[in-house]
Order: sequence, then structure tokens, then C-alpha cells
Amino acid sequence: MRLFSATIATETNTFSPLPTSIDAFKESVFLRPGEHPTDAPRMCTAPLFVARKRAAADGFTLIEGSCFAASPAGTVNKADYEFMRDEVLGQLKAALPLDGILFGLHGAMVAHGYDDVEGDLLERARAIVGPDVVIGVEYDPHCHMTLKRIRNSDISICYKEFPHTDVVDRAEDLLTLVLRTLRGEIKPVMSLYDCRQIGSYPTTLPLMRGFVDRMFDLEGKDGILSVSAVHCFPYADVEELTGRILVVADGDKAKADALATRLGEEFVSMRGKTMPEFLTPAGGIASGLAFNDAPVVLADPADNAGGGAPSDNTTLLRELIAQDAQEAALGPIWDPIAVKLCFDAGQGATFPLRFGGKIGPTSGQPVDAMVEVTALARDAWQSFGPTKVTLGDCAAIRIGGIDVVLITNRTQALGLELFSNLGIDPLTRKLLVVKSTNHFMAAFGPIAKKVIYVESDAPLSRDYTKMKYTKVQRPIWPLDPDAKPGGLIY
Ligand SMILES: [Zn+2]
Repeated sequence: MRLFSATIATETNTFSPLPTSIDAFKESVFLRPGEHPTDAPRMCTAPLFVARKRAAADGFTLIEGSCFAASPAGTVNKADYEFMRDEVLGQLKAALPLDGILFGLHGAMVAHGYDDVEGDLLERARAIVGPDVVIGVEYDPHCHMTLKRIRNSDISICYKEFPHTDVVDRAEDLLTLVLRTLRGEIKPVMSLYDCRQIGSYPTTLPLMRGFVDRMFDLEGKDGILSVSAVHCFPYADVEELTGRILVVADGDKAKADALATRLGEEFVSMRGKTMPEFLTPAGGIASGLAFNDAPVVLADPADNAGGGAPSDNTTLLRELIAQDAQEAALGPIWDPIAVKLCFDAGQGATFPLRFGGKIGPTSGQPVDAMVEVTALARDAWQSFGPTKVTLGDCAAIRIGGIDVVLITNRTQALGLELFSNLGIDPLTRKLLVVKSTNHFMAAFGPIAKKVIYVESDAPLSRDYTKMKYTKVQRPIWPLDPDAKPGGLIY
């Protein structure tokens, strides 16, 4: 049995002022066959990582293709996407004959000329391998689950958890289902229900937690193989941006249809009830500083690099300074030039630094301050569940009672190492301000005595009616408050 695995992944915020070229992939994940690390998967590469570990025991040969993944940002350069796609498809052709393919995709990548990158990749892969090769795909739930993708794959699975702590577990599920299909034990059929809604669904909050737990309970019995809730990625202007429910059943399409409809209707009934409360920057910081236990973790989802934001907005830092916050730490602010200046000044130096507020109007104004460089770290990393994410060179600076972490490789706050790499022990701080939507909860949730979410003036507004969509299929909630669900579409 011969399986091929590869990854092309990023989450494209089509409203972002930061174009994505091949350099962004080279900064994050740019691994050719033979270069894949053995310690942990990188971003969306879990299918390859898991397949390699299980190949011998499960009796198949894994042909490793290239894996490319970039931090979320703006629309991807067309020639660069085609270069990566053609490399992977060339490897696929060279690997024939094959029995199965495992793709680790994010599922919300947009390139100039390609609103549905993954659909394009899967359609071309199917044309190469023909109808009999089993194509399995692992997606991030913040994806656009287009019909083209469903028509050109056999088994699709999204991570269930947000924060995405189950990237490896779902890759295990995918491999198991692909192998069972190849052994003739199951015949997967898929059903897709369109909820016609844009939303955010942290699974750390009770309503969505219960929904995900019920999804787990449904799997592995009564012919149901897999259940996925497609959250959607709200910051992309593409036609099939919408929340959907995907069910994979064993041979029985009617059963898959019925379950997708039941869960789809339930997902629709949760409109407007799945997000946390958001405070203003001033109110959130005042409330955090007044809390009588520590640490308080305060999140700035609107400047989440993981959603394509620049992560250099200064509003919360200004508010911390204005309220004379003590024992506070904030991270990350993406500013590679400021990091270099800190390295040039040296650890222990106090010097005037201008940082942050650079990329666009939603970055706010730069901060000018006398800063003390308290720590420097080369090629730093943070962990996210079972995966590792690069931060590049980092600097910690202190302004009054506030420590700020500046990073070179744009990414969101995921692991405690973001701070501890630079000698800042998160447990000793009263207030930790993190730029992240909800992934921070995997590591910061367990140490937080209180979690506060604020809505800043950074670009990723939680109010989707403010987004300037032109291509998104209408009606859709909440842009059209009475939007009816689309029902079964596959
Ligand atoms: Zn995601």
C-alpha cells in the first residue's frame, strides 16, 4: 500500500495589508522531502507526521511530499502558489502508483486568481490519480469548505477544538479512516449542510464545548465515521465563506444527510451565543488591574496575527501606560526593525525606541519611549499543543512596570515560552496581555485566574457587519439578520 502526503497551507485574510509571498512560507514551514522534523509537526503538517510514525506498523509505504505553510496574512502571490502547487503535483505524479493521499491543508488560502486554492489543488490531484485513489484531507475549522473540495476528496475532517489542540488527533482519525477504506472495511460518504452564518466558536466556552462533546459521542457508532463543524474564516471575501456541518458516514448517505441536517439546525440555533463578552481596552485593563488574584490574562483578538492581523497595534499598550500598569506584560508586538535595534543596543541598555504602529491605519500610532532592553533571544520558539511555532529573534523591553515582547516572525501568542524565553515568568505577572483570538487558551487558560476579552481598534473586528464583503454569497447571518440556513448542499 502506497500513501502520499503533502501540505500547502495558510489562512488568507483578503482584507490584510500584508501580501503573502513565498518568503512567508520560507519563514514558517518550507520543508522538502527528507527535511521534515521528527520531533513535532509544523502547523498543518500533522497528516505526514502521523503517517510516518504509523507506516511500518500499519503496513504501508509513505511517500513524503513537500510541506509549505505560512502565518496568516493577505492574498498569496499567484506565481508563488502555482510554484508550490506544481511542485507537490509533480511529486504526486512521480509517486504513482498510489493507493491514497493525505493532504494537510488549512483550507482558507486565497491566491490572486484563485479564491479556492484548496479546491484547485484537490481537483488537479484527482485528475492525476483518477477516481480510485482515496483522497483524505485534514482542515482547520476556520476554512471555506467548498463543494469543489468535497467533490474531489473522499474523506475530509476538521479539527474540533478551538484552540486547535487536536491537530494530531484528527490527523490520526484521518489516517485510520483512509486505511480502513483501502482495506475495504468502510465506504465513506460525505454530507454537507450549509448554515449560512458567519461566527466565532471558541470551544472553551460552555455552549460550544457541549456541541463538540456531542460530536465526539456520535463518532464510531451507528455507521458515523466523522463529524466536523466548519466554523468559517470571517476575514476573507470569498463566495463560500459560511459555517457548515460535514458528516462522513459508512456507505449510508441518507444517514449522513440526516445527521448533518440535525447538527446543522443545532449550529444555526447557536447564532450569536458562542462568543465571549468583549470589554473596551480601557475597561478591560482597569478590570484586570483591579482583580485580586493573578495572573489575569487579557486577550486582544482584533490584532491576532493568526487571523492575518499585523500584530503591531499599540492601543492596549498605550492604555497600559496611561493606567500606569505595574507587573504587566504584553506580547507579541511584531516589529522586526525594533528587534534589530534592541539587539544593536544590547541587553541592559536603556535607549529611545520607536516601535509598533507601522503597517496600516488599524495599527495605531507607533510608541516612542525610553525602553530598557531586559532580554534578547535568537531564533526563539513557542509551543502550541503538540506543534512548534517559530518566533524568530525576540527582544523584551521594559517601560515603567510593563514588559513588552517584540518578535521578528509574525505570529500570535500561543505558548508561555513567548514570555519565558525572555526571562519573563508569566506566573509572576499581575496582568498578561496577549494578541490572540482563543488559541492562547491552550497554554494561558490553565494559569489564568481570570480571562478578559477586549475589542480593540485593530483590524479583526468581531462585528462582521463592519467587513466590506463583495463576493460572499448572500443572504448570510449576521449581514442579513433573517438569513435562513441553506440546508443540505451535498
Ligand atoms: Zn483555525
